[in-house]
Amino acid sequence: MTRAISLHDVSKSYTHGVRVVDRLSLDIEPGEFLVLLGPSGSGKSTVLRMIAGLEEIDEGELLLDGEYANDLRPGERQLAMVFQNFALYKNMTSRDNIGFPLRIESPDTDPGPRVEATARMLGIEDLLDRFPAQLSGGERQRVAMGRAIARRPAVFLMDEPLSNLDAKLRNHLRAEISGLTRELGVTTVYVTHDQAEAMSLGDRVAVMRAGVLQQVGTPRSVYALPRNVFVAAFIGRPRINLLRGVVHAPLGGAMAISLGKQYLRLPEPLSLDHQLLRVQQGREVIVGLRSEAVRIAGRASAALPGEVRITGLVEHLEFQGHEMLVHFNTGSHPAVVPDLEGPRPDRPVRRRRRHDLATVLDRLLSRAGALRAGPVATLEHPADDEADPAPPEGQVLQRAALPGDLIVRTAPDLGLRHGMQVRLLVDLAHLFVFDQHGERICPAPARLPQLED
Ligand code: ADP
Ligand code: MG
Repeated sequence: MTRAISLHDVSKSYTHGVRVVDRLSLDIEPGEFLVLLGPSGSGKSTVLRMIAGLEEIDEGELLLDGEYANDLRPGERQLAMVFQNFALYKNMTSRDNIGFPLRIESPDTDPGPRVEATARMLGIEDLLDRFPAQLSGGERQRVAMGRAIARRPAVFLMDEPLSNLDAKLRNHLRAEISGLTRELGVTTVYVTHDQAEAMSLGDRVAVMRAGVLQQVGTPRSVYALPRNVFVAAFIGRPRINLLRGVVHAPLGGAMAISLGKQYLRLPEPLSLDHQLLRVQQGREVIVGLRSEAVRIAGRASAALPGEVRITGLVEHLEFQGHEMLVHFNTGSHPAVVPDLEGPRPDRPVRRRRRHDLATVLDRLLSRAGALRAGPVATLEHPADDEADPAPPEGQVLQRAALPGDLIVRTAPDLGLRHGMQVRLLVDLAHLFVFDQHGERICPAPARLPQLED
């Protein structure tokens, strides 16, 4: 059994006037695996809890299979929830933990067969007689999942169920969750802040920022055609290069986008997409280049049709084993996207100041990055960190603070060294241009209709 879930203009405030979920509309199909993706504090858990009935909906409607469900009690919604902190009863064995909801539901039925069938499905038959303290993190999470599955719910709601586990186990359980939910055909809403997890699990991904749904689409489509600069930057690693540019479209002359000291000259005749840039003449835009849009030109290699040349100075090399991330200085200015990692900028969290060496270094680097980037007049919340330059707890150096303004992925053995001047070829077919408000201009919204959803 499975259900359709619809949210129509759903809003939620905890403090008067501040919407943590703002008019969110979303239709989830029966059997679909939908991932809610967004930075911490963007309202994902609140959405999930409203679907579960654990949080009241202030405005808007929740429909389950087309029926108005705002007022249904959680127990009437036929859904099961799995949380990050998989709470198992300490004094019960796995068998009793899994069977517990079944006993509550129908006290006269022996839960044994259901529990065993569930355990077989999860490969945890051997663990049924152990207590939680005798289980590893991954085993506990499997038992917790067993408890959710045993009731054969129509909907799974999962809130960062894997974030407490180590990377290897996370990958393993990710594959298991994917297989299991598909096998059961149960509608699943899965919350995560991890874009890689979202991309690998979801039939569709719904990207949230500060309580507002930004875009819903297949992993492929949100990657290939992000609606705005936030989605472009949130999805994909290494993170898309975002550079501040100005459009130059002289009458009769070749059109170009200046990136600091260099130009991207757009080839004539202009493609349909590039023609759209004419109206941006003289305006600031944000140029987005994913690392696959730029390649290093060998000594002999000429630009292919659709490629334009720029140069970059190697500033930093990140060896990754199978590849190298090369940080170039091209003399351009990185655009800063607010909200990417942390809480909403309109309600900054006061951060505890630390004075260890790493923090001081972080601060200096982010200041240097901010200086180089200059004021970001083109985006909504400039210089969010002005008042307190310390990065959020636990956050490593931000990309913008690292040396170089353009990160390119290459083979690990190109022999590049710090300080080299290198010719780069930019593939204009992979060029993104966003307007001053961060909305995508190129590729045009109407292009590739099969990808836009
Ligand atoms: P996410 O799951 O995306 O990290 P949440 O839905 O938990 O985000 O929270 C969204 C916003 O609502 C955050 O700013 C959070 O501080 C706030 N919030 C969440 N729960 C409560 C609550 N019970 N009372 C007040 N504010 C809350
Ligand atoms: Mg959450």
